[in-house]
Amino acid sequence: MHLKSLTVKGFKSFASATTMRLEPGITCVVGPNGSGKSNVVDAIAWVLGEQGAKALRGGKMEDVIFAGTAGRAPLGRAEVTLTIDNTDGALPIDYTEVSITRRMFRDGASEYEINGNQCRLLDIQELLSDSGIGREMHIIVGQGRLDAMLHAKPEDRRSFIEEAAGVLKHRKRKEKAIRKLDAMQTNLNRLNDLTAELR
Ligand code: ATP
Repeated sequence: MHLKSLTVKGFKSFASATTMRLEPGITCVVGPNGSGKSNVVDAIAWVLGEQGAKALRGGKMEDVIFAGTAGRAPLGRAEVTLTIDNTDGALPIDYTEVSITRRMFRDGASEYEINGNQCRLLDIQELLSDSGIGREMHIIVGQGRLDAMLHAKPEDRRSFIEEAAGVLKHRKRKEKAIRKLDAMQTNLNRLNDLTAELR
């Protein structure tokens, strides 16, 4: 599985539809300061479900929509599509190529699609949950974070390593299972009370 292409339209500095083809292996994005290199990484984080404006270097979520320049009017929506090569079947879906799309309008409304079919963010999160990518599962090291990582306390550094190793997803599943067990225990207690009342 590898990221095959990224199409951005109306996202941050990318007003016109722009497609970047990504080959297996290492991809380098080069360009002058302020030309939009980090915006490419932001687009990947965003389409994978990032919900925090700060993580995308903005004040509010609408800041991802092209805000206009001296020569070009602002746009009303941002759209990013990430196409993933799934010939190895790493994603549990019967397609050798999977496209994930996220669209956002100025009123804050969002739309998500898998291979052109409208879906919920949850469907995307579930599709990606075993793949090592997706919200909170991919490792994106932003500018300045490398320093922070090198100087981090051992316990903080451990959380970075756990995230990269994919421990997080198991921790989330464990928390979910514990919540279910708690709910089940509450139901059992209630059942026992009712049985005792009926005796
Ligand atoms: P550096 O090399 O300095 O880190 P960079 O190539 O990573 O720069 P980015 O931070 O990706 O550059 O892009 C910054 C540019 O994106 C700025 O010119 C900024 O005005 C523009 N930009 C960010 N958000 C928007 C938006 N919503 N609408 C239009 N332009 C935007």
